[in-house]
Amino acid sequence: MHQLTLAEIARGLADKKFSSEELTRVLLARITQLDPQLNSFISLTEELALQQAQAADARRAKGETGALLGAPIAHKDLFCTQGIRTSCGSKMLDNFKAPYDATVVAKLAAAGAVTLGKTNMDEFAMGSANESSYYGAVKNPWNLEHVPGGSSGGSAAAVAARLLPAATATDTGGSIRQPAAFTNLTGLKPTYGRVSRWGMIAYASSLDQGGPLARTAEDCAILLQGMAGFDANDSTSIDEPVPDYSASLNGSLQGLRIGVPKEYFSEGLDPRIAELIHNSVKELQKLGAVVKEISLPNMQHAIPAYYVIAPAEASSNLSRFDGVRFGYRCEDPKDLTDLYKRSRGEGFGAEVQRRIMVGAYALSAGYYDAYYLKAQKIRRLVKNDFMAAFNEVDIILGPTTPNPAWKLGAKNSDPVAAYLEDVYTITANLAGLPGLSMPAGFVDGLPVGVQLLAPYFQEGRLLNVAHQYQLNTDWHTRTPTGF
Ligand code: GLN
Repeated sequence: MHQLTLAEIARGLADKKFSSEELTRVLLARITQLDPQLNSFISLTEELALQQAQAADARRAKGETGALLGAPIAHKDLFCTQGIRTSCGSKMLDNFKAPYDATVVAKLAAAGAVTLGKTNMDEFAMGSANESSYYGAVKNPWNLEHVPGGSSGGSAAAVAARLLPAATATDTGGSIRQPAAFTNLTGLKPTYGRVSRWGMIAYASSLDQGGPLARTAEDCAILLQGMAGFDANDSTSIDEPVPDYSASLNGSLQGLRIGVPKEYFSEGLDPRIAELIHNSVKELQKLGAVVKEISLPNMQHAIPAYYVIAPAEASSNLSRFDGVRFGYRCEDPKDLTDLYKRSRGEGFGAEVQRRIMVGAYALSAGYYDAYYLKAQKIRRLVKNDFMAAFNEVDIILGPTTPNPAWKLGAKNSDPVAAYLEDVYTITANLAGLPGLSMPAGFVDGLPVGVQLLAPYFQEGRLLNVAHQYQLNTDWHTRTPTGF
């Protein structure tokens, strides 16, 4: 039963082959048995899950239908869940029970999804390896000595290991697409503003976006359908109708114009990954797509710009964790300054402190123009590159990451080495564009992802292309040994 996708679960529930409660019990037992190897969950919500499953079964018995009605999922532990610990992977919020549900959590619950638990993540979503979590590193089910990617590494490892069919995640600079690539999943970062950020603990507010992680594009369509939509509580949420994503999966790719940026194939890219990316292009050509070389000339400036903007916004967002209102408070503070200093010094891990310092520096008087303002200008150039490219092509295709998943600990002493691995994903966040990563093969037994980018609000196009690709390839069906 644990091999079923969301789409298959929906059919099985509709045909009364099994109940949501049965499925939920099977998956909860599987998590208890196998997760100690992976550490992909921070909290299990067994009682809530069984309650929600029974309620979903009762709704189905009354004739209600819906692709998510009774479907088991989990939430990355930065989506607020009422009365349930929402830790953001940090000691700072280890004792924080959210007083309300994030919009995404509430919408999925209303659609009948069953929450099995909260997944592990890099502290405050800062990282690409899921090693900065207060709750310990997450392991990659394809090779337990390797990282699963980050920051949504818990969601990715759990879905890849078939502990559950799909999970929510967030992507500020690649944290849905990169772990998807590292664990052989399909992950979609929607257009900025497509999914509400209300109740999603902020890292860098102008870049953060929630989205689905699943095994197939078909399942991403189902989960995104439940997450997307306007929300008056989020001032950057966009009031655009949500199309039927599942309905567009079967469109023909005849004449689809694929742009392949020449800058993507530079020396930093593992040549074995380059070959797999070229193979995926050939596969899409067989389905009728036409390929064109394009250029994104400002791509080289994206990493430095992102690593100014994201920490700047983080330093401001994380100022609310002061030991006064909620979260961790140090023991026996001498005075108010000591309370602030020690609560933040003891509550935040090293990577979070590093980013707060970088961000505060970049925003300080005298440096604002040199760093923050300049980074914002680069951001516009990156966006302009994409706008020019999308005048000529329908989607942009390339690798999701320059290398496969690295060994646990391999980049711990050199944070910049890890930042450089974000080269292909962060441009979509800077521009606010939707992007998807899907399985494209293996290197040394580790999965490789191909990334597709599309114009604003063309999530349906990404899912369509990915679904057609998946109907003609079987990379996404491979299961890690032992799971
Ligand atoms: N690796 C990037 C960072 O650390 C992206 C993280 C994310 O998307 N949340 O900022």
